[in-house]
Amino acid sequence: MRDLLIMTPGPTEVSEEVRQAMSQKITNPDLDPDFFDYYLHTTAKLQKLLRTKNDTIIMSGEGILGLESACASLIEPGDRVLVLDNGIFGRGFADFANLYGADVELLEFPYERAIDPVKLQTYLAQDNDFKLATFVHCETPTGVLNPIAEITGILQEYEILTVVDAVSAIGGIPVEVDGWGIDIMLGGSQKCLSVPPGLTFMSISSAAWEAINERQTDIKGFYTNLKLWQNWYEKKFFPYTQAISDIYALDAGLDKWLADEGVFDRHKEIARAVRSSLTAAGLELYPETGYSDTVTAFCLPAGISYRQLNHIMTRKFAVMIADSLGQFGNKLLRIGHMGENCYEEKLYRTMRALDKSFHELGCNLQQSLAEVFMEEMN
Ligand SMILES: *Cc1c(COP(=O)(O)O)cnc(C)c1O
Repeated sequence: MRDLLIMTPGPTEVSEEVRQAMSQKITNPDLDPDFFDYYLHTTAKLQKLLRTKNDTIIMSGEGILGLESACASLIEPGDRVLVLDNGIFGRGFADFANLYGADVELLEFPYERAIDPVKLQTYLAQDNDFKLATFVHCETPTGVLNPIAEITGILQEYEILTVVDAVSAIGGIPVEVDGWGIDIMLGGSQKCLSVPPGLTFMSISSAAWEAINERQTDIKGFYTNLKLWQNWYEKKFFPYTQAISDIYALDAGLDKWLADEGVFDRHKEIARAVRSSLTAAGLELYPETGYSDTVTAFCLPAGISYRQLNHIMTRKFAVMIADSLGQFGNKLLRIGHMGENCYEEKLYRTMRALDKSFHELGCNLQQSLAEVFMEEMN
């Protein structure tokens, strides 16, 4: 494989330390008592990342497994679920909730802006009889960041359980699970922690466990059944054989993250410089408010396709950026500046590749992205 720099908003670049950790000799994770302690230590590191004392589990499967498991385990047929929708992942929660029989209320917000807490407050003043609400911290397809603390605070006034997808924010943007009172916080391995795709992790509050334990009906799923994870350590029991090599990788990724004191400042600084260079070059950012520090989405200039751009970027310059999903496919371009991607030299290489690729496609920028980026970083 060529040494392709993957500047996509997940999966991100994987460090040498993490790759080496993944290649360690394995044990039998179901039978070796030491592995239960190893797993417990890894979840303790996740608790530091999430700033929580809540139970934290790791499941074998990509981020989507976490989203579905939270819905499968909390929702009983007929339960009222409030889905906050200001993006593709936010809206996607409605599909999972429907699948498990929820009575879904979709509260829509404009996609190019962060969720407006005042609108939520006004809505809830009229109708607030919900078992849970779902929303997304960072809408990865559009690069919009939602004010998670304010939203959670409002939902808590009505004792509505909160399920938050922070898959593409955790590790790049500060989160405070206990400080904010989030019931289920969802993350994934392949975004800001820069561990290969394959694991999802989550914290589960005592209120969420209570709601799960008080169900009148069985959970319709096995892989998605969180109840099986209750007291796994005391029982020395995992519902299925753990992906031990992936967990070794996650543990190494967490060590690297925990040792990185300037991690949030670096995300902020780089995200700001990326946005400034794109706008200085005459490109249009997609969000109008709520810019994420982990991913930047901007409009694909008229007359070129993502396929053409990606071909030149990857073949000639060995850098990959992403387009977007759903209705934004071939309309938005996205640079992932999270985790291992979030270093000045990697963004510089990306901006230079973009400068040259746009030039080859006959698209004239008002200024050089790479030059403005370097000025902004000084
Ligand atoms: C990456 C991501 C997920 C996981 O989904 P995939 O697209 O399958 O990687 C879930 N939620 C958000 C917000 C994500 O960015």
